[in-house]
Amino acid sequence: GRKFVVGGNWKMNGDKKQVTEIVETLKKGPLDPNVEVVVGVPAIYLEYVQSIIPGTISVAAQNCWKVAKGAFTGEISPAMIKDIGANWVILGHSERRTIFGEKDELVAEKVAHALENGLKVIACIGETLEEREAGKTEEVVFRQTKALLPAIGNNWGNVVLAYEPVWAIGTGKTASPQQAQDVHASLRTWLSANASADVAAAVRIQYGGSVTAANAKELAACPDIDGFLVGGASLKPEFIDIVNATQ
Ligand code: 13P
Repeated sequence: GRKFVVGGNWKMNGDKKQVTEIVETLKKGPLDPNVEVVVGVPAIYLEYVQSIIPGTISVAAQNCWKVAKGAFTGEISPAMIKDIGANWVILGHSERRTIFGEKDELVAEKVAHALENGLKVIACIGETLEEREAGKTEEVVFRQTKALLPAIGNNWGNVVLAYEPVWAIGTGKTASPQQAQDVHASLRTWLSANASADVAAAVRIQYGGSVTAANAKELAACPDIDGFLVGGASLKPEFIDIVNATQ
């Protein structure tokens, strides 16, 4: 079985007081011990959150650069993330792709370097509304995943895929359980043909996009949904209920 994995992507939100409060809420839980929990923290609070969070919860950066060090003003490296004790990074988020212009190739380079340096990666994919309405959802998510294949190589054990339809992110328009399940199942079929049957069976695919405590249970019941990547609701106490959605 695939262990359910729920990520909270805080994005560029919170101050030191609020991130402390979120950690306090997580400490109280209770969190289902059978669920892996990862929080995606703004870079400036990574070391602080890592120092106060229970060891059962993992900390992720929300981005990193593709080489270890050097003249890359404003960037952080996987080595730095590891150095402060965090073990995960979120890469290829649609906000990185659309606002900051990250293309499939750059995302792949980042994924490769992060994995080489021992980070676990939540790799995000997903179509825009225009692409969905043009019937191109599968074409887009297969293209985005294909770009990652050489970067991941035989390191699939350290990768979680996050399917986040762009039209569902921050809009309150959650994909229906059927819409999400369909894409997750197609992805698994595609991975079986293009990576391996073992990878397809083992890789965890999160759904992201307007997940709330109210819709999490129904989504979590879908056979190919193995967790969530949660934005807005990860800043609120309802994140606990989302983590516990399979109970
Ligand atoms: P929302 O849950 O706020 O829609 O954000 C989803 C997301 O982008 C998580 O990475």
